[in-house]
Amino acid sequence: MAQIKVRGIVIEQSPMGEKDKRLLVLTPEMGKITVLAKGAKSQAGRFAAPAQMFCYSSFVLDKGRTFYYIKEYEILESFYSLRADIDVLTYASVMLELARDFSIDGEENEGLVRLLLYGLYALEKKETDPYLAAQTFMLRLVSDSGFRPELDHCLRCGRPYDQADGWHFREEEGGLVCPVCMGTDLRGLRPGTVAAMKYMIEAPVQKVYKFTITDEIRRQIKQPIRSYTVMNLGRPLKSLAFAETVENLELKTPGND
Ligand SMILES: [Zn+2]
Repeated sequence: MAQIKVRGIVIEQSPMGEKDKRLLVLTPEMGKITVLAKGAKSQAGRFAAPAQMFCYSSFVLDKGRTFYYIKEYEILESFYSLRADIDVLTYASVMLELARDFSIDGEENEGLVRLLLYGLYALEKKETDPYLAAQTFMLRLVSDSGFRPELDHCLRCGRPYDQADGWHFREEEGGLVCPVCMGTDLRGLRPGTVAAMKYMIEAPVQKVYKFTITDEIRRQIKQPIRSYTVMNLGRPLKSLAFAETVENLELKTPGND
């Protein structure tokens, strides 16, 4: 039986028959691959540990007709603590769902794996606000997948972005539109919002989760990034709808604004 050696993160798992689990593993070399973890439904099963969501392992896999089968493994990082905080778990789940939907079976995607790993490490070490980490992951992923939004010029007239009031992000057009072309005196984006979005797209991946923003900019980036991501994905995200429910509950909590 042919064998391969890969590193990968479990981005989806489901029961398979009485005893096994079917995993979707995101690897740098081969994109998403389907792996069967024999006996993993039982806690005591030999392959139960590496079959957990988020778990990042190095695997030796046997290639079967339909699946790969775990032969040997070494856990590199379990990311177990991500489950301890509902906000962290919610936004980490948004990141996994997006990674699943933007990756292609069998196609190399080292950049995506690095972006996801740095994000999960930042969440685990509490180096980042989970909401901001998920926004960053979304925009960077969409941008790196070939849909980089235009943030330097007006998409209609070509005028360079000048930090004036009244610039808007038009997701259906793919970026910024200037106040003249918008023909409205609605206030539009703060310069810090455009700067934050540029940072998310351009910063080296090691640093991309390490920045902070004001509450106003935190509120302003939400709509452009989400609409732009969902539009380019072509369908709504389940985990994102759940994250929004959690955010709305938090907004309604008295004394938490
Ligand atoms: Zn214009």
